[in-house]
Amino acid sequence: MTVVIKCEDLHHRYEPADEGGVEALSGIDLEIARGEFVAVIGPNGSGKSTLAKHFNALLLPTEGRVLVAGRDTRDPDLLWEVRRSAGMVFQNPDNQLVATVVEEDVAFGPENLGVEPEQIVRRVESSLDAVGMLARREYAPHELSGGQKQRVAIAGILAMEPEILVLDEPTAMLDPLGRREVLETVMDLNRQKGITVVFITHFMDEAVRADRVIVMDKGRVVLQGPPREVFGQIDMLHSVGLDVPQIAEVARRLRDMGVDVPPGVLTVDELVAAVCR
Ligand code: ADP
Ligand code: MG
Repeated sequence: MTVVIKCEDLHHRYEPADEGGVEALSGIDLEIARGEFVAVIGPNGSGKSTLAKHFNALLLPTEGRVLVAGRDTRDPDLLWEVRRSAGMVFQNPDNQLVATVVEEDVAFGPENLGVEPEQIVRRVESSLDAVGMLARREYAPHELSGGQKQRVAIAGILAMEPEILVLDEPTAMLDPLGRREVLETVMDLNRQKGITVVFITHFMDEAVRADRVIVMDKGRVVLQGPPREVFGQIDMLHSVGLDVPQIAEVARRLRDMGVDVPPGVLTVDELVAAVCR
């Protein structure tokens, strides 16, 4: 396993608005492997966005350190390398598209990196193709649905050829179809191109699809593991104010009623199989 993101005793304290300030991250130790798909969940204010912004040096540790592909984010000489290797996608698709035409928008990142024009054309095509938006390359952003806009935003990041994609609640403002489009797109990029994905979400059914789920509360990682293990900890998740996937909840209720359902059931098929057994 190659570690691509490493946090060592990471603390982040925002500028003190008053005495003391807010410690948003309180000692995070974390390793993310190359090619991994990690979901980050946690209640509002638990530090998810603050953590994500450390992965591409939008924020720097106030204590401890973060290594991205081996590069210390505090080193000013490495800043652009760090920014280029970890691309960020945010919640609101409308804030991320800057050009009036889809393909121009996707070209924007590589243009800023000084990539050769022919290379840019190739990157724009392959990035739009990778998110299934090549056919809409000449559209204006306002002609697209929320899910399509978010996929164009992802293409714009891909065109900079990052090895890590950090997405901060990219589906929060989308309808169910858009949410599915974006999740499937990101999962494809992870599986087919080997891009490491950090996917912050408050939808538990999305987190279930990850290789690993990291649960944050009050600036700390309070639980992490494969979805089956994490979503088996129903009381723990409830205690930090999180829901569990519906099927896990149903399985738990059946178990409470005396039905023999094994722990770790997460899909309808698994539940049906367990109940029929
Ligand atoms: P999440 O993404 O999990 O909702 P955030 O990382 O946005 O959590 O916030 C973590 C904590 O840091 C919260 O207490 C929040 O109020 C505080 N915080 C976030 N951004 C700022 C900021 N720019 N200045 C001061 N405090 C902030
Ligand atoms: Mg947030």
